Amino acid sequence: MHDIAPWSVAILLTAAIVIAAWRSGSLAGNGAVAALLIGLVALRVQWSWGAFLLAWFVLASLLSRIGRARKAVRTAGVVAKGDRRDARQVLANGGVFALCGAGVYSALAIGFPADTTVLTTAAAAALAAAGADTWATEVGTLVGGTPWSVREARRVPVGTSGAITASGTLGALFGGVAIAGIAVAVGMLPAANVIAVAIGGFVGALADTVVGAWWQEQRTCAACGQSTECLVHRCGATTVRVRGVAGLDNDLVNGICTVVGAAVATAIALAR
Ligand SMILES: [Zn+2]
Repeated sequence: MHDIAPWSVAILLTAAIVIAAWRSGSLAGNGAVAALLIGLVALRVQWSWGAFLLAWFVLASLLSRIGRARKAVRTAGVVAKGDRRDARQVLANGGVFALCGAGVYSALAIGFPADTTVLTTAAAAALAAAGADTWATEVGTLVGGTPWSVREARRVPVGTSGAITASGTLGALFGGVAIAGIAVAVGMLPAANVIAVAIGGFVGALADTVVGAWWQEQRTCAACGQSTECLVHRCGATTVRVRGVAGLDNDLVNGICTVVGAAVATAIALAR
């Protein structure tokens, strides 16, 4: 099939892009391995899947670089991880996309006579949700405004999980629409499903906030009392869990965000 990258091309192309991302500081070593696997799946489903994945990644990387210094100052000691995505982060964002891709690949490989449009829609929406969440975080942190905890109904420090700003919510909406548009533009997604993916992306990002607010593990530094996601605070003291589900960290919440995005888009696509 001419619209699928041959294995050799898929491996070389994905390796080149992943190595570039690793060298530029967007990916940690194990994150690069995970990204390589996801890229290979995408290119073996269809060229357009690879193009969509690349556009998504470039957009997310650019977004997290804009105003990095300013942001680092504002969220110092609160957010657990920096810009180098490790394997857990990569899989949290791209795992559902890759699973859907593997589903389409398998269906085509064995000649399964079903329409793969629904799986394609779910895959696009999973990344749209992860992207919309990134846009919400980055735009919200950059533009500012007062973060509001949806659970505690009060102001909280910038960078706290489960909090929203007006600018961040608009960022999520714009991100969902933009990423759905890209999926159509590269020829991955039928135009008829663009709304389903945009809504899935936006709702997934909202779910990220809600899950983050109610169930994400929150820790406090035993020494200085500051709220944090880190296991060891920057002051050197260990931290203790004050609420939330043990082990439900930011990466797992991001994974849930992509599952919700895919599920919502699938439901809308099937209902049409
Ligand atoms: Zn401390």
